[in-house]
Amino acid sequence: MAVAEMGSKKFDYAPAPESRAIVDIQPSYGLFIGGQWVDPTDGHAFKTISPSSEEVLAEVSEAGPGDVDRAVKAARKAYDTVWSKLPARERGKYLFRIARILQERARELAVLESLDNGKPIRESRDVDVPLVAAWFFHYAGWADKLDHAGFGSSPKPLGVAGQVIPWNFPLLMLAWKVAPALACGNTVVLKPAETTPLTALLFAEICQQADLPPGVVNIVTGAGDTGRSLVEHPGIDKVAFTGSTEVGKMIARSTAGTGKKVTLELGGKAANIVFDDAPVDQAVEGIVNGIFFNQGHVCCAGSRLLVQESAFDEVLESLKRRLSTLRLGDPLDKNTDIGAINSLEQLTRIRELSEVGESEGAARWTVACELPDKGFWFPPTVFTGVSQAHRIAREEIFGPVLSVLTFRTPQEAVEKANNTPYGLSAGVWTDKGSRILWMADKLRAGVVWANTFNRFDPTSPFGGYKESGYGREGGRHGLEAYLDV
Ligand code: NAP
Ligand code: MG
Repeated sequence: MAVAEMGSKKFDYAPAPESRAIVDIQPSYGLFIGGQWVDPTDGHAFKTISPSSEEVLAEVSEAGPGDVDRAVKAARKAYDTVWSKLPARERGKYLFRIARILQERARELAVLESLDNGKPIRESRDVDVPLVAAWFFHYAGWADKLDHAGFGSSPKPLGVAGQVIPWNFPLLMLAWKVAPALACGNTVVLKPAETTPLTALLFAEICQQADLPPGVVNIVTGAGDTGRSLVEHPGIDKVAFTGSTEVGKMIARSTAGTGKKVTLELGGKAANIVFDDAPVDQAVEGIVNGIFFNQGHVCCAGSRLLVQESAFDEVLESLKRRLSTLRLGDPLDKNTDIGAINSLEQLTRIRELSEVGESEGAARWTVACELPDKGFWFPPTVFTGVSQAHRIAREEIFGPVLSVLTFRTPQEAVEKANNTPYGLSAGVWTDKGSRILWMADKLRAGVVWANTFNRFDPTSPFGGYKESGYGREGGRHGLEAYLDV
């Protein structure tokens, strides 16, 4: 797809690969417990691969229940003996130090993230990693100002937090979890996703580099069972989870009545609503960013496009034209817009749901493009003729697949947008400020973007309604999840 055509002439983009020489991937990794690299007790390990080439990047330890127990004990000891006793401004200094090292090592982190996850370097370099540093800077600033956060005169931390994160924004989700927890005076045990453990392990190295007291941050790699051992461990005071609604429900059940404080950030099926008075080119950029950013592996993705009927033809035509200019391929190439699907499992799910879309009667349109031979790929895909009852309009596909529906009136747009078990985000495109405010008031979603989409900022709270979960991450609101209030 790296081709733009003009008349009979073809222009190709020359390859512009980012060098991977900057990353030093170890052949194998231990667990990061109590400030040390340790082997898992039962010696189990698994491989992490690059989804764009299927190349094995490293062997990673699989933490069993005994290892999780060691990590929780290390976090408890660090909490009791060091972290909860430090003056708040000293905690803040550690966070500032981590934030600065994240910036210094930004290129290394971006390359490693793109290798392990498959996302384009343009995104890991310009979005993920800068936001990761911004999150640490933001919460570093809060550490000694908690008295002024609106949670009483001296709010107390909870203790030890067990944190489980997904594979779509590995380092960014780590930052969303670790930065506020530490700023509030908690210690943490974090489990990254099975398919993307490497940047969390590099973060462990950064904690060492920052001289963070041992045990304040512990990283236990593994799969779902490791996550379950962590959230069910009786020694933790707080569970923070981002991932699927299915696992989120299991966690809500297993933590009920335990006294653990729980925040869940789950799936979404966001409506991106385009009115006929919206500037079409900007709206099309917003639609593309809404669903094709990060291959659509975004919980708040604008996966349901609601277009006002009178603008349908114009929007669809522009959208298809724009999509045919996107470049799919090597995540480390700086020209790449669409990277690899994170795993074969996720690719299979995207394929299956897309087939269901067709068999239920929606019309499928895909950009004509060559997919690389190796790795996991799915071309940007648009479904039209989608009705509310179709599975592709109801279920989270978590891939580069857009379902297009139409509406006539603002009221109908609101009804269709809210007709979902989820409620994480929504987007509104219109020239009228009063309509934006009216819509924002009626949409049952944690975040409503107006004339933009997928914008994140550490000062702004993020979180869901209904089956998208509960609790807020980010900004002052995000402190509440880690304080005894
Ligand atoms: P998932 O299973 O919910 O995974 C999220 C995290 O939870 C991972 O670290 C996972 O470990 C861990 N985990 C799995 N089972 C667990 C359990 N019983 N107890 C505690 N932790 C557990 O999500 P997924 O399988 O990666 O993706 C499935 C679907 O979830 C996607 O298709 C998408 O629809 C949705 N999803 C949403 C988000 C989001 O940001 N809201 C993120 C990812 C996925 P392992 O991955 O190592 O097995
Ligand atoms: Mg991987």
